[in-house]
Amino acid sequence: MTRRNEPKPSDSRELLASVSDASADTEYFSPIPAGYRKGKARYVIVMGTVMSGLGKGIFSSCLAKLLQDKGLKVAPIKLEGYLNIDSGTLNPFRHGEVFVLDDGMECDMDLGTYERMLDQDLSRANFATSGQIYSDVLHKERHGGYLGRDVQMIPHVTGEVKLRLRRLAMETDADVVFVEIGGTVGDLENAFYIEAMRELAYEEGLHSCCFVALTYILEPRTLGEQKSKAAQLGLKQLMQLGVQPDIIACRCEHPVSEQARQKVSVYGNVPLERVFSMHDSPSIYMIPAMLREGGLDFEVIRLLRIEDRIDLRVERQEWGRWCDFTDRIGKETREVTIGITGKYTSVRDSYASILNALEHAGIALQAKIRPKWIETTHVTDRNAAVHLKDVDGIIVPGGFGTRGTEGKIACVRYARENGVPYLGLCLGFQMAVIEYARNMCGLSGASSTEIDPSCADPVIDILPEQKRIEGLGGNMRLGGRDVEIKPNTMAWELFGRSGSVRMRFRHRYEVDPRYIEVLEKAGLVFSGKAPDQPIVQILEVPGHPFFVGTQAHPCLTSRPLRPHPMFVGLVAASARRRYAEDDLPDPLTACRVCASKGYAPPRTV
Ligand code: GLN
Repeated sequence: MTRRNEPKPSDSRELLASVSDASADTEYFSPIPAGYRKGKARYVIVMGTVMSGLGKGIFSSCLAKLLQDKGLKVAPIKLEGYLNIDSGTLNPFRHGEVFVLDDGMECDMDLGTYERMLDQDLSRANFATSGQIYSDVLHKERHGGYLGRDVQMIPHVTGEVKLRLRRLAMETDADVVFVEIGGTVGDLENAFYIEAMRELAYEEGLHSCCFVALTYILEPRTLGEQKSKAAQLGLKQLMQLGVQPDIIACRCEHPVSEQARQKVSVYGNVPLERVFSMHDSPSIYMIPAMLREGGLDFEVIRLLRIEDRIDLRVERQEWGRWCDFTDRIGKETREVTIGITGKYTSVRDSYASILNALEHAGIALQAKIRPKWIETTHVTDRNAAVHLKDVDGIIVPGGFGTRGTEGKIACVRYARENGVPYLGLCLGFQMAVIEYARNMCGLSGASSTEIDPSCADPVIDILPEQKRIEGLGGNMRLGGRDVEIKPNTMAWELFGRSGSVRMRFRHRYEVDPRYIEVLEKAGLVFSGKAPDQPIVQILEVPGHPFFVGTQAHPCLTSRPLRPHPMFVGLVAASARRRYAEDDLPDPLTACRVCASKGYAPPRTV
């Protein structure tokens, strides 16, 4: 695994700041970055009570969006309790997908929610783990940063947390920093984050911080009514830590009753108009409207005293654009089933970005997407037709290891030979190359050295160049890269005839350049490549309705109002296959139609 995300030693100015603070004979220790202006940035701090998985990231990103739409600069940050330096080594089955940022940071899937909701590229400054925090503190300690003092959780570790938030505020010139604390109030590993936020509110002063507690209202079926006791206990636990929430958002299956809100209000010391219902929604993209209707955005603006910073003209325009998008949700005229082959087929979170990208394309094309999970360990050339009989299109997503790979190759073959629309993502791109090599180039021993290190034809391999370039410490190719697009190909048309697109990567293996010629001679087209290396990044099969693979993860850069053309292409081709009698647009026309409706293509830089 990569170690590119190792923490950088803090800069010497901050070290010196801590040194002088530390040697002063005072209890007021809090390293503040040079040039920080108190009061410029306000902080919204979102914490969860009762249980995890309530959607703190979704809530926080929706609220951030409402403020951003009013012309405010927002900067989100997720604070994770675990000791890993990044999410690169986490199992997506346990923790959800690993989201990769443009700068190569491997982080929590919530960062994907923020990027999509805010249509904003984030960086490693937007993601912190306990591991990073401790590591920085220990580094400073070894370099004399706290001379004369015993290094403690308070004030040094909490100081490091506040330092990061203030640095983010300064670097992004944010009006509002959204701080999402991982886990649940009461978790030992997250307690120092909450303490740091209590200190932050004290130091920054009145109206600088808005604390939001996300809680859960139970609705036991046998009782047939909403119960708020668990929420009350969760809030009590938060207040015991010295934090009084300003706003309470109640997660619940159905809209929370006035009575349950009243109970929460009384026990949480929060006026009723600041206790909101955040009930289940058919799409997360409808949650901003739910929060806006409840008046949450203006409650926060009033609490933070930033009424004079908002621009309601900007809001009218932005909100109009957003509603044009959300008005289409639930009004789909067609249904498309996309088969997704995956190892973690039972956990939707492990493929969150793919599901989101499909939803974006589906909304743009007014097609409801039904994902069908396909476990490939038992799929073979002989039974592929049975497993894939009711799918309109197929995605082979990214993955690691060998399990189920032969089944995936069988799915690719079925898609290619039967004109079923296909999109291969990273591992799915590699599987398509292997399939083509075996069945179209006569290389029956073709494979990837990840699957079979001693295969006869390692069409997919770790490149020696790659080892040299990135081999120090880790050899994963991570983050955003420019991809050069070959003119007059499907990719060229999909990307609006743009010569270069930015895509995100997370892989170790790639096509061995020695096989490019033989594959091309057999008809495979490599329509995207790295500008400065012989690394092929996009493939397509001409004459097929839609057969595209990419070494990148286009799902990571698909946005609601900027659906990724590769997903638009797949969904359009799948709809055409399913509704053959209708006159539906082909993938390229669909992308043009999207653009004409105001759906912007992905940014090229
Ligand atoms: N296992 C493959 C590689 O390392 C694919 C990685 C992926 O799908 N993210 O290259």
